[in-house]
Amino acid sequence: MLKKTSHFMREANLIGGAWVGADSGATIEVVNPATRQVIGTVPKCGRAETRRAIEAAETAFHSWKKTSANERARLLRKLHDAIMDNQEALAELLVMEQGKPLAEARAEVGMSAAYVLWYAEEGRRVYGDIVPSPWADRRILVTKEPVGVIGAITPWNFPSSMLARKLGPALAAGCTAVAKPASQTPYSGLAWGVLAEEAGFPEGVVNIVTGSASEIGDELTENPLVRKITFTGSTEIGKLLMQKAAGTVKKVSMELGGNAPFLVFDDADLDRAVQGAVAAKYRNSGQTCVCTNRFFVQEGIYDRFVEKLVEAMGRLKVGPGLEDGTQQGPLIDDKAVEKVEELIADATAKGGRVVAGGKRHALGGTFFEPTVIADAAPDMRFMQEEIFGPVSPIFRFEHEEEAVRLANDTAFGLACYFYTGDLGRAFRVMEGLKYGLVGVNEGIITTVEAPFGGLKESGLGKEGGHQGIEDYLDTKYVCIGGL
Ligand code: ADP
Repeated sequence: MLKKTSHFMREANLIGGAWVGADSGATIEVVNPATRQVIGTVPKCGRAETRRAIEAAETAFHSWKKTSANERARLLRKLHDAIMDNQEALAELLVMEQGKPLAEARAEVGMSAAYVLWYAEEGRRVYGDIVPSPWADRRILVTKEPVGVIGAITPWNFPSSMLARKLGPALAAGCTAVAKPASQTPYSGLAWGVLAEEAGFPEGVVNIVTGSASEIGDELTENPLVRKITFTGSTEIGKLLMQKAAGTVKKVSMELGGNAPFLVFDDADLDRAVQGAVAAKYRNSGQTCVCTNRFFVQEGIYDRFVEKLVEAMGRLKVGPGLEDGTQQGPLIDDKAVEKVEELIADATAKGGRVVAGGKRHALGGTFFEPTVIADAAPDMRFMQEEIFGPVSPIFRFEHEEEAVRLANDTAFGLACYFYTGDLGRAFRVMEGLKYGLVGVNEGIITTVEAPFGGLKESGLGKEGGHQGIEDYLDTKYVCIGGL
């Protein structure tokens, strides 16, 4: 297996076109969460290496920003093709460091390629304006320019596609990048360096550093050459990065935590709701920021929903991601398992009923049983905390207003879902939910064509859609006088 993917599995960082180690020679071990075996190491870099990467990106920016949008689109299309030509190898590498089922990894890699292609196209449509002037002798032009060097910090749950959402628009806009992948899953990030080289991007346009999160993060946020920080990860770290980026007034885009509610009304198509519930909850073993964290089910349909969800979930095949037919892999590490156990213990102490799963899986390691908890109540920790694991707490409600109020009773505002057959209710609830993404009778809604992003403490800015490139552009107003 390793052999097939080894071309992409780089144990070095890409800085200014060279594959290098840390100055100190220090490394970090990368572990396969399914086997708990070390699959390799990556450099443990810090501030000095990051500074050099930023300087290389700044040097490259001077010529990259002058290339035509067509030329950048051409390279991005080649990058897209390179990803798709190697989809299987990239997906296997992803499974080995992240643990998700191979089918999900293939889909993620496909999604990465789709983002790149989308922004290859969008980069050619970065229009400015010519505005009617209030002065007879002057003209008003509004132009868009790339912001400059960007720093991208990404998480372990989607190690490939989270970088695609950042590198795609950044490169299309004419920015250059320094990326820091999560230490648990660095190879899918470093693979972007190999792919960018193969597609023919000039050296220094894409730089990738792995290592100390705080040191790399401090350099990226404090270095004045970096003009934008784009981050996907926890709300806690996002807030810290925003504070640090304030010192040099950088643009920031933040894709942070979620606490997605999933509302099922009495008038919903029950089978469709259950199908959507399984997809919105158990994908990536519940480790996505748009995974359902809280189910709210109306009392008339409650018992049947619980029963059908338990049944559907019982059919999920748990196993190593590379094993045929696996639908749920291991959790990323022991800390993740401990958090899930704590939340389940808290719920049962407060009257929650474990009706399926509830404990570590017989496979051992960080495998966990898909779990359903009935009789969930608002004083349980799920109400405020992200689970990031395969646990479905199911709350009961009576009225529509109550469900919307409970759904909104969180500091987060990323994704939400609801199921109803009533058109009026669909509009009322959609307008009442304070979330950036709303699935109505749909459990999986992310696509490159639509803007992804949260409200409240779930983040700032959008990724995907035509909106996604705006965050990488500065708007410049030019007044031409003396005509
Ligand atoms: P998670 O809980 O999902 O691991 P984190 O927010 O801790 O989320 O991590 C997301 C990304 O942020 C990872 O690449 C991680 O290494 C990085 N990170 C963690 N702490 C810091 C920090 N202090 N400064 C910059 N990046 C950080």
